[in-house]
Amino acid sequence: MSWPLRSLIYDLFPHNRRVEPDRPTLEGFFHEPAEASCPRCGASVGPYAASDAGCPWCIQTNLPWDAMVRIGAYHEPLSEWVVAMKFHGSWRWGRWFGEQLANRLKDGRLEEPLGTDTVVCPVAMHWKRQWQRGYNQSRLIAQSLARTSGWVMADLLHRTRATTPQTHIAHSQRERNVTRSFRAEHVDLTGYDVVLVDDVKTTGSTLRAAANQLLSCNPRRIIAAVVAVADPRGADFKAV
Ligand SMILES: [Zn+2]
Repeated sequence: MSWPLRSLIYDLFPHNRRVEPDRPTLEGFFHEPAEASCPRCGASVGPYAASDAGCPWCIQTNLPWDAMVRIGAYHEPLSEWVVAMKFHGSWRWGRWFGEQLANRLKDGRLEEPLGTDTVVCPVAMHWKRQWQRGYNQSRLIAQSLARTSGWVMADLLHRTRATTPQTHIAHSQRERNVTRSFRAEHVDLTGYDVVLVDDVKTTGSTLRAAANQLLSCNPRRIIAAVVAVADPRGADFKAV
C-alpha cells in the first residue's frame, strides 16, 4: 500500500496505526499488602494509619462508594503499564490488571466479602475517544475481573458528553469537567453489589461522578476497584 493511502487510512481510523503490543512482563512488580492503602479512598498510608472509617486523606469527606481496592500506587512500574495500555495500544494489560483486582477483592481486605450477587461495571468512555483508542481500557479490565471472579459485567454507565481528558486540566477544574457527564441505565440493583472499575484515581472526580449515577440504581454497595491511585499533589502521599 502506498504511503499517501496508508496515511489517509490512519487519519480516518487512528487505531489502525497501533503497533502490536509486547507481551506484558512483570519485572519490578511487587504485591503490596492490604494495609498499604486506605480501604476507603485508596490513598497510600502507613501502618495503622487507616481504618474502615478512612485515613487522614479522606476522613472528612463523603464518598459515594463503600470501599476501594487498588493494585498499587501510581508509580513505576505500574504507572508505565497503565500508560502503555491507555496511550500505546497495549490492550493486553487489561487481562492482568483484571486478575490482580479480582485477587484484591477476595483477599479479605473488604469488611464483608462480595458474593455471587455482584455485577462489574466499567467507567464509561465517550464513543469518540473509544473510537480513537480502539477500546475502553476500563472495560477490558472489568471484563477480565468479571471473568476471573465468575461475576457478570454490565455497561451500566454511559458517557453523555465528551469531556476534556482529566489529565489535561487542572485538578481544581476536574470535578466540574465531569459533572453530569455520566448517565446510568434504569436498572434495579437492589440486593446487588457493584464493582466500579477504572484505571487510575487521582482527584477521584471521575469515579465520584460515575458512582453518584450508579446510586440511582439502588445497589447494596459500590466497591471501587482501580489499578493505581495517584497523589493529586504529586507527592506520593507523603506529608508536606
Ligand atoms: Zn482514605
